[in-house]
Amino acid sequence: MVQGNREIDAAHLVNTTWGEHLARLDQDPRATHEPVGHLKEFDLLKHFPALRDDLDPSALFPRGSVVSHQAWIGPAHARTGLHHDLLDNVALTLRGRKRFYLLPPGSVEAAQLVSRKFDRWARLSVLGVDALAQRLEAQGLAAPQVVDLGPGDALYVPRGWWHEVVNLEASVLLSGFFGSRRRTWGLWLQTGALQLAHNAGLWRRGHCTCHSRATGPG
Ligand SMILES: [Zn+2]
Repeated sequence: MVQGNREIDAAHLVNTTWGEHLARLDQDPRATHEPVGHLKEFDLLKHFPALRDDLDPSALFPRGSVVSHQAWIGPAHARTGLHHDLLDNVALTLRGRKRFYLLPPGSVEAAQLVSRKFDRWARLSVLGVDALAQRLEAQGLAAPQVVDLGPGDALYVPRGWWHEVVNLEASVLLSGFFGSRRRTWGLWLQTGALQLAHNAGLWRRGHCTCHSRATGPG
C-alpha cells in the first residue's frame, strides 16, 4: 500500500492486510490524522476470480491489444500525483466516485515541470495539478479539464495525457493499460532495462516511486 503522494513526495510503502485496508476505507483520514493509505496496482481479478462472473474487462479494450489491468482501492481524499502513462489507459470505476484532472500532452513539458523521478511506466510532474492550474491561469492558459466518474463510468485516457486523480469518496477503480503488441513489448524491454539498472542502484537511485526512501541511502 502507498501512503501519501509518491509522485511528488518520497515514496512511502507500508504493509497492511486486506481486512485492515477495507476497514479504513470508511474513515475520513483528515479526522484520524493518519496518512491516506492507497492500495495501488492491485491484481483484483487474480485475487478474487469470482468477480469475473460480473466483470469482463476485455469488452473495454481494442481486440489484439496487450492489456494489463489493476485495481486502485482507497478512501476519500486518496489521490495520485500529476503524471502521464506510457500506455493508453481505460479507467473503470466500480464503486464510489473519483475526479480526474486532465491536461493535454505537452502542457507540463512546455512549463518545464517534468520530474526526473523514476517510474517505469509513467512520467511525473514536479508540481501537482492545483499549483500548476494557478500558474496556467496567471499565464492566461487553459485550466485543466475536470471529469467526475461514478460507479460504472469508464474514461479513456490516451497515453501522453497528463492526469491527476482524487477520490471524492472511498472507491474501487479498475484500470487497464493497453497498447499494440509491438508498442507494448518494445516498451517492456526498454523500460525493463531501466528498471534493472534502477534496482541495481545505477539509475535514479532513491528517486523513484517504487522503493521506500527509508530502505536505503539516497
Ligand atoms: Zn525504486
